[in-house]
Amino acid sequence: MTTGTAVSTVPFWIDGKRHSAQGTREGVVTNSATGQVVRTVPFANDADIDLAVASARAAFPAWRATTPLRRARILMRFRDLLERRTPDLAALITEEHGKTLPDAAGSVQRGLEVVEFATGIPHLLKGEHAENVGTGVDSHSTRQPLGVCAGITPFNFPIMCPLWMVPVALACGNTFILKPSEKDPSASMLTAELLKEAGLPDGVFNVVHGDKEAVNAILRHPDVAAVSFVGSTPVARHVYETACAAGKRAQALGGAKNHAVVLPDADLDAAADALIGAAYGSAGERCMAISSVVAVGDAGDAIVSRLAARARALSIGPGHQDGVEMGPLITADHAARVTGYIDAGAREGAVTVVDGRGLRVEGHEGGHFVGPTLFDHVGRDMSIYRDEIFGPVLVVVRADTEQEAIDIVNDSPYGNGTAIFTRSGASARRFAHEIQVGMVGVNVPIPVPMAFFSFGGWKGSLFGDLHVHGTDGVRFYTRTKVVTSRWPEQRDAVSLSMPTMK
Ligand code: NAD
Repeated sequence: MTTGTAVSTVPFWIDGKRHSAQGTREGVVTNSATGQVVRTVPFANDADIDLAVASARAAFPAWRATTPLRRARILMRFRDLLERRTPDLAALITEEHGKTLPDAAGSVQRGLEVVEFATGIPHLLKGEHAENVGTGVDSHSTRQPLGVCAGITPFNFPIMCPLWMVPVALACGNTFILKPSEKDPSASMLTAELLKEAGLPDGVFNVVHGDKEAVNAILRHPDVAAVSFVGSTPVARHVYETACAAGKRAQALGGAKNHAVVLPDADLDAAADALIGAAYGSAGERCMAISSVVAVGDAGDAIVSRLAARARALSIGPGHQDGVEMGPLITADHAARVTGYIDAGAREGAVTVVDGRGLRVEGHEGGHFVGPTLFDHVGRDMSIYRDEIFGPVLVVVRADTEQEAIDIVNDSPYGNGTAIFTRSGASARRFAHEIQVGMVGVNVPIPVPMAFFSFGGWKGSLFGDLHVHGTDGVRFYTRTKVVTSRWPEQRDAVSLSMPTMK
C-alpha cells in the first residue's frame, strides 16, 4: 500500500451537507488495482452518530407528513439522476472496489431498479378495509413509518446494497442513516448529493463512515428504530442480537457459500459459461457468487475440463481497462487471506487444477490481484470448502447421485443462493422444492431476485424474518395500525365489559 500525492478526505453527509468528523480516528481507501491510498475516511464516534441521528429525527415529522405520492416523485427524479450519473458512480466503484466498469454499472442498475419499485409506494402502502365488523363499526389497517432507520453495508456492493434499503425506507416515510463500508465509501456520498438534487429535504438521508465503533453507537442509540445490515455472518449475528436486545427492529443479511449442482444431463457448455461468470465475476466478491460446484456422476470430469479451459483464458487486470473480465480484490490483506486459502487447499489434498497464486499484472504490481483458481476432488472437511473465501476460488466436490447433491447443499450452514443445471424439469422441480436456500436458480447461476421480489437467504445467511426490498422491504420499514371506527347516532350506555361486536 503506497500513498499518492494528493489524498482527499471523504466527509460525512449530515443535514443535507458535507460534514467533518468530531473524532480523530480514520481509515484509508485504496485504489485496488494499484494499491495506492486515494482517500482517507474519518471514523465516526458517539458524538458524530448523535449528530446524524438528531438530524434524521428532526427531519422525520415533516417527511412522514409528506404524501407518499410526493415522496415517490422525489424518488422518480433520483432514479433519473442515478441513470444519468451511472458512469460516475461506476468509476468510483471500480476505483475503490476493483470490479470492472460494466460490472459496476450493472450493480448501479440493480440498485436503480429498487428505486423504480419504491416509486410505487402509494399503492404499496394501501391497507385493508372492512365495513360492518360490528353493527355500525368499520375497521381499516394502515402502514406507518418507524422513524429513524439505519443501514450498515458491506464493501462488495457499495451502491447496490445501500439501494436495497434506502429507497424503500424513504418511500415509506422514514428518515435514514447509512454507514457504508469504510473500504469504499465514495459512492454513498455521490448518492447523498443526487438525493438532495432530486429534492429530498435535508436530514432525511445522512451518511456516516467508520468501523465497529460507529456501528455499535448506532445499535446503542435509543432514537434509532430499525437497523438493516448486510455483511459477514459473525457481524450479522452481532448486529441482529444487539439491535434486538435494544428493542429495535432488525434484519441482518450474512455471508454465504453458494453451491451449483450440475447434473449429467445438463448442457455442460452452457453450464460452464454460466459458472465461470458466477465464480469469478467481481473476483468472487459477491454474496451470490457460486463458490462450490457439486458435480453429479459423469458430469464431474466433463465440467471440470470445461471450467479449467475457461478460467485459464480469463483476462485479469485493472477494472477500468477495456476487455478486462476480472479485477483485483478489495485490499492487500484480503488478497493475502485468499492466497492463504489456496495454500491450505493444496496442503489439505485437493487437486489444484488452476492456480491463481503469483499473478503479476504488468504496470499494476501493487494491485491486489489473485488469479482464478479451481480445485477438484475437494473434501467437505477442507477449509476451502467450509469457509467463505470471498475470492476467485471455485471448488468442485463430487457426488454420486442427485439426492447426495441435495443433501450436500442442505448440510451447509449457509443458505443464500444456489442453482441447478439440468435439462430435466422433474429434477429441477424437486431441487427447488427440497433445497434449504432462500434464492434458487434453475439454469440461472446467480438468481438475484428482481426488485419487486424480495432478496434474502436462509440459515446463517440471514438473521431476521423479512428479506430486503419487494413487499418484505415495505413490511420491514412500516408498522401496521388497525383503526376501528364508529359514528353512533345516539349515545350508548356505559359498559365496563370486554367490547364485542354485535
Ligand atoms: P463485514 O461484515 O466485514 O462488514 C460489513 C459492515 O459491518 C461494514 O460496514 C463494516 O464497517 C461493519 N463491521 C465490520 N466489522 C464489524 C464489527 N466487528 N462490529 C460491527 N460492525 C462491523 O463484511 P464485508 O467484508 O464488508 O463484506 C463481505 C461480506 O458481506 C461477505 O461475507 C459477504 O457474503 C457478505 N454479503 C452478504 C450479502 C447478502 O445479501 N447476504 C450481500 C453482500 C455481502
